[in-house]
Amino acid sequence: MQLLDGKALSAIVKAEIKVQVEQIKAAGGKTPHLAAVLVGDNGASETYVASKIKNCEEIGFKSTLVRMPDTTSEAELLREIEKLNQDPDVDGFIVQLPLPAHISENRIMEAVAPEKDVDGFHPINVGRMCKGLPTYISATPFGILEMLERYKIQTAGKHCVVVGRSQIVGLPMSVLMQRNTYPGNCTVTICHSRTQNLKEMCQSADILIAALGRPEFITADYVKEGAVVIDVGITRVADLTKKSGFAIKGDVKFDEVAPKSSFITPVPGGVGLMTICGLLTNTLLASKKAIYG
Ligand code: NDP
Repeated sequence: MQLLDGKALSAIVKAEIKVQVEQIKAAGGKTPHLAAVLVGDNGASETYVASKIKNCEEIGFKSTLVRMPDTTSEAELLREIEKLNQDPDVDGFIVQLPLPAHISENRIMEAVAPEKDVDGFHPINVGRMCKGLPTYISATPFGILEMLERYKIQTAGKHCVVVGRSQIVGLPMSVLMQRNTYPGNCTVTICHSRTQNLKEMCQSADILIAALGRPEFITADYVKEGAVVIDVGITRVADLTKKSGFAIKGDVKFDEVAPKSSFITPVPGGVGLMTICGLLTNTLLASKKAIYG
């Protein structure tokens, strides 16, 4: 069994981006600039956005945080997005999800200019991904592809089972794993809560990607000997032995699945840390106008 070490790998990817930023600046180019819009005061969102801003600073990007109150109307948020769309200094921006219930996330995602949509959530960018055109691949799928590639994991001809069909993880992952490229060329099965023979499906996976949000759901009996196991799940579970009062659990019961797997991601320290690399890479691409010219 080999650990897919998100901590070590994300440090390498970030160092590589940092070098590129230094080269751009040394050549007199513009500093890549990421803006993040945070609506309301959701604790988890605050943490995620703070981490994104911190990572930007570490690698030499400029970053801007736009805070808006919980009471922001959809029209006000759309106006803010239009300002960012028009701002020539902002290369890319994200609107942190989830949004307050009175705002349509779909309408907001569609308002972000595709060339600045570094989260890769705009339908045009999702469509480009489906067609295999250059695009911004959203952060979590990007992080998983990067792990597979950097650990040189064989994917062609393998059976990849993705558990979960969300717009941000399961669905794009299933599309990316079947593409005629590397990593890709898998035969893909996508499972969800209505799948009847989930265990049998998982047992036939050479590559199992668990993105269902059910802590430690995938036990050893779901996993084929020698499978590659990617655990996307992040759930806070009450744990009074921890100072914080909770522990972070993945969707995979690591202790019993790890001995059966050839490669496995830990939680924490796996996919979660790789996701930021996607956002940073996309911002760099946006600043270089690499996708939309
Ligand atoms: P969603 O809740 O949007 O989607 C969960 C998916 O899993 C749905 O398609 C659902 O099916 C399916 N599912 C739920 N329960 C079962 C079950 N018992 N059997 C089979 N399928 C099931 O979650 P996300 O995709 O947003 O996130 C998944 C997990 O990944 C969460 O723990 C989240 O915190 C984590 N996450 C981690 C990230 C990272 O950076 N590492 C980034 C994003 C998310 P159905 O469609 O039928 O409801």
